[in-house]
Amino acid sequence: MGIEEKLPAGVLLTSVEKLVNWSRKSSVWGATFGLACCAIEMMAAGGPHYDMGRWGMEVFRASPRQADLMIVAGRVSQKMAPVLRQIYDQMAEPRWVLSMGVCASSGGMFNNYAIVQGVDHVVPVDMYLPGCPPRPEMLIDAILKLREKIGHEPLGPNGRKMLAAREARGDVP
Ligand code: SF4
Repeated sequence: MGIEEKLPAGVLLTSVEKLVNWSRKSSVWGATFGLACCAIEMMAAGGPHYDMGRWGMEVFRASPRQADLMIVAGRVSQKMAPVLRQIYDQMAEPRWVLSMGVCASSGGMFNNYAIVQGVDHVVPVDMYLPGCPPRPEMLIDAILKLREKIGHEPLGPNGRKMLAAREARGDVP
């Protein structure tokens, strides 16, 4: 008789990796800060109308040490870049970065010396969200896609790289 038959009904069999990823993606807490107009839409997404608590995201944390997700909501000025990097460095692993809006992702219409031409010059970005500004529904869609990525991330220090390689091969369901 196999072990499955010996166990009582209702016992869930899974791998440690799946269990860890499920708990990680079910409690992605954002860092509380906004940079420009995109932040208004981010704040709207955090309100009761959109109920992000459905995905375990009902709280944004004022301390980066308690946050898992940095939403870069708005243009990043050259002066703000070191501050943003410091906040990122204070976040514990595993941590993720979502670049919200065209300004954060590429500088957008602010093609000048004062604005960083893409936040990926400062921190690694896991998800890019286009738009000016992206609506709360778009932000939630990007967060849900990021959750899917988190759900497939192999454990260990090279998990992110392994996932990127799998995605490049089209190997992720
Ligand atoms: Fe503002 Fe648009 Fe830039 Fe967002 S993308 S920060 S809404 S100008």
